[in-house]
Amino acid sequence: MFMRKMMVVVGLIGFLTVPVFAVEEAELPVAVYKSKEMIVTANPLATAAGEEILKKGGTAADAMIVAQTVLGLVESQSSGIGGGAFVVYYDAKSKKLTTFDAREKAPLAATEKRFYDADGNKLSWYTAWQSGLSIGVPGVPKLMETMHAKYGRLPWPSLFHPAQQLAGKGFKLTKRTSSQVEELLQKNTSCLDKDRIYFRDPAAFAYFVNPDDCTAKPAGTVMQNKEYANTMQQLANHGSGTFYHGKMAFDIASAVQGDLRIPGDMTMGDLARYEVVEREPVCMDYHGYEVCGMGPPSSGGLAVGQMLGILSNFDLERYTVHEPQMVHLFAQAGRLAFADRNKYVGDSDYVTVPIEGMLDEEYLRARSLLIQSTDMGSADPGTPPGSFDPYGADPTIKDSGTSHISIVDRYGNALSMTTSVESSFGSGVMVRGFLLNNQLTDFSFAPEDEEGVPIANRVQPGKRPRSSMSPTIVLNRDGKVELVTGSPGGSRIIGYTAQSIINVLDFGMDPQQAINVPHYTNRNSSYTQIEEPIGSVTVGYDAEALARELRKDFSYDDVRVDTLTSGLSIIQRKEFQWVKSSSKQPSWNITTLLIGGADKRRDGTVGGR
Ligand code: GLU
Repeated sequence: MFMRKMMVVVGLIGFLTVPVFAVEEAELPVAVYKSKEMIVTANPLATAAGEEILKKGGTAADAMIVAQTVLGLVESQSSGIGGGAFVVYYDAKSKKLTTFDAREKAPLAATEKRFYDADGNKLSWYTAWQSGLSIGVPGVPKLMETMHAKYGRLPWPSLFHPAQQLAGKGFKLTKRTSSQVEELLQKNTSCLDKDRIYFRDPAAFAYFVNPDDCTAKPAGTVMQNKEYANTMQQLANHGSGTFYHGKMAFDIASAVQGDLRIPGDMTMGDLARYEVVEREPVCMDYHGYEVCGMGPPSSGGLAVGQMLGILSNFDLERYTVHEPQMVHLFAQAGRLAFADRNKYVGDSDYVTVPIEGMLDEEYLRARSLLIQSTDMGSADPGTPPGSFDPYGADPTIKDSGTSHISIVDRYGNALSMTTSVESSFGSGVMVRGFLLNNQLTDFSFAPEDEEGVPIANRVQPGKRPRSSMSPTIVLNRDGKVELVTGSPGGSRIIGYTAQSIINVLDFGMDPQQAINVPHYTNRNSSYTQIEEPIGSVTVGYDAEALARELRKDFSYDDVRVDTLTSGLSIIQRKEFQWVKSSSKQPSWNITTLLIGGADKRRDGTVGGR
C-alpha cells in the first residue's frame, strides 16, 4: 500500500531522496505527505484533536493546547498540566524564531541540601522521585495561556472541549500506559496502603490499578476522568489563573505538602509567582542551515549544537548510518558534548553559562581534534571562550518518559515542543485528575563536587533544574522552516535529536526513515548504547555485529545492545521542483510539501491535510 502511495508521489513530484536502506517489510512505518498543515504527537487521539483544530483554521499554538490537554489525559504518564515544557516557535508574520521556557521551578523554601536526610545522607534518586520533594511548580498551564495570547486564533474555551469530552466519555487505556503502570507496581514489595511506594497516592491508585489483585488496569479499559473534565472546564472558563490561585492552587500545595512518603514544601505563593520566560533561541550554523534549539535551563540546544558542530568537521556523507565509523564519530561527539554540558549548564538566571563560547566554531573544531580512531574513554570538559564561573560537574544521566509535539500550520508558523512530567507518572501524586511532576530530581543532588566547587545545576530557591529537552527548528538558507524535530528520552533526547537532524540533512532521509533507523548514544558514561533491533522498524540492521566491530576495531570496552525508546516527532518542509508536462510547453513548477514522521517505538502518529 505504502509503496503504491510512494510511487504516486514520486510520479507527481518528479523525484524523491533515495532511501538509505531498503523497504523490506509491509508494516514498516513510512512518511506521510501533506500540503497544508501537519501535527505529529505521541498518541493518535492527541494527533486527531490537534488536526481537527488545524482544519478549523487554528494556529500551531491553538493545536498545541488541544494536543497537550489530550495528551495530559491519554498519555498522562508522560506530560500534562502538572508538568513543564519548552517551546521553540517560528512566527511566520515576523519571520522570527523565539523560545518559551515553562520549566518547573523549585519552591522558594528549597535549599541546596534538599535531597539529603536529617542525618546528612544523600537520598537515593528513587526515594526523591516518589516524594513531595521532587515536585516543581508546573509551567504548562501558563505556557498555554502565554502562547494563546500571542499566537492563538480560535477562542480559548473551545480549545479545552476535546479533552473535556474525552475525559467525560472515557478513552481506551493504551497498552503502553498499562504496561508502564505494571512496571512500577512490580517495584513495590507490598501493595498495602501503608507500604506502597509506587502509586502510593490513593487517587492515582484508584485510577490506574485494579484494587483486587494490585495489577495494572489492562489495555483497552475505558478510562473516565471526571475530575480532569472538570479541571478542563475551569481552565476554559477562567484561564490559567484558576490553576495558580484559589482552590485548585490550594489543592496542589496541599497534595505536595501532604505527600504520604516525604512531604514537599511548595506553597500557594510559589504557584502564584510562576512565570513563563521568553528566551532567545540557541542557534548554530550547520552546513548553511540554522539549527535553533532551547537554551538554558535546558542543555538541549547547546549539546545538540555541540554535537553537530563537532561532527561538521568530518565528512559524514562518506558513511552510511549503520557503519561502525559513523557510530564511533557520533559516540565520541556525544562524549565531548556531555562533558561540557555537565560542567557548564544550569539555569542561566542563576549561573553564567558560556552559551556563545560553547558553540564557537573554532572551539568545536579544536574539540573535534580530540576524536581519534579509538574510543577516547571518558572525555574531559573543555574551556570554551567567554566568561563563566568555575563550576564542578554534575554528571547525572537520566532515563525516563516525556512527549514531543511538532506542528506546522497553514499560516507557516512552526512549533516544536517537548513537554514532561519527568519520570513515568511524574511524582505519582494526582490532583484534580492530573499528575504532578517530579522534575526537581533533574537538579544535582550534591551542591558541590568532591573538591568543594559549587555545581551549576545545584538546587537553589526558585531555580529551574537543568533539562535535556531539545525541541528544535531548522531554518534553510532562505530563512524558511526546513525541519521541526524533538524527542522524549531523558538525557538520551540529545543524541536522538542530533541523530534525527544528521539523518535528514546529511543522509537525505525523509523524517520517517530518520526515525526508523536504530539509535546510538554515549553520554560520556562508561558505556555506549546501540539500539536493539525492532522487527518492523529498524530494518536490515545487525546490532550484535555492530557491537563486535566497535569492540574490536574501535576499542570500545563496554558496548550495550539496549532498548532505546525514543519518541521523535518530525516534520520536514520541502520544496520539490517538477516539470509540468501536460501542456505542449513543459514548465518548471515548485510544490511545497510537509513530510511527517512519527515514532512507532511509542504510539506516534502524523495528522494533517
Ligand atoms: N526530565 C527530563 C529533562 O527535562 C526529561 C525526561 C524525559 O524525557 O524522559 O531533561
